[in-house]
Amino acid sequence: MDEIPLMGEAWRRAARRVGRRDARLLLEHVCGCAHADLIAHPERAMSGDQASRFAGLVERRAAGEPLAYLVGSAWFCGLEFAVGPAVLIPRPETELIVDLAVERARAMDGPGRPRIVDLGAGSGVVAVLLARRCPRAEVTATDVSAAALDVARANAARHGVAVRFLEGDWCAPLGDDRFDLIVSNPPYVADGDPHLALDGLPFEPRGALSDGVAGGDGLGCIRRVVAAAAWHLEAEGWLLLEHGYDQALEVRKLLGQAGFREVASWRDEAGIERVSGGRRPAMPAGMDAQAR
Ligand code: GLN
Repeated sequence: MDEIPLMGEAWRRAARRVGRRDARLLLEHVCGCAHADLIAHPERAMSGDQASRFAGLVERRAAGEPLAYLVGSAWFCGLEFAVGPAVLIPRPETELIVDLAVERARAMDGPGRPRIVDLGAGSGVVAVLLARRCPRAEVTATDVSAAALDVARANAARHGVAVRFLEGDWCAPLGDDRFDLIVSNPPYVADGDPHLALDGLPFEPRGALSDGVAGGDGLGCIRRVVAAAAWHLEAEGWLLLEHGYDQALEVRKLLGQAGFREVASWRDEAGIERVSGGRRPAMPAGMDAQAR
């Protein structure tokens, strides 16, 4: 094996391949040190094991694998969460649905605890944040992927919140349960979107990004959620959905057709209509005197 470089030298060499910041974060991850240590002591030695693990991670980063998967965590809304290839890496635009949900949950001041469900929770970041920010709320999270639920459970434990996790597709595991608020950040990237081949997306679970409908508009999962959600909402309950940058009009239309009231869209920090939602229809489609 080549001579093992000192830390500062290893950082410098790796920076040429993956940039200074990512090289530093990988080095800190492998060596368990802080930024300040690297600056103050570039002459520190690495073990052979650290050097080879670092080289391996730099290789993978250079091949496009997202940093979050390489270090096993990502930051979202000021908290660090575990992530892995079974779940999407949290996106900054998803902060919007968290804020909108928190606002609504806090405004619910009835005698009982507000009940919230996150459909397709993935790494659980939204559910965990709702549980933290709305301690009165009872939070449920569903996901079809058992591996994703493992990550989400770990994140709930890491941040000390109780979330009820249910395995299954969208509303399927909810039985007859009703909620005051349903949130979801479902897959919405159209199957043929060239974006899926860029920016590390090929390393993320395709089923969490796209509904997989060849030649479709990406709205397959959103249609399913809109169709099922009314049955699981209390009378004044809200449904909030994250969607793609160009899907707001279509999602508002779907909500309107399903009878949702107060249908609206909200813009993310980039000024893009990113979340749409509405209140439960007075009479959800198919709900007649026979009840359900
Ligand atoms: N906003 C993400 C992206 O464009 C997609 C997230 C999702 O499908 N829910 O990469």
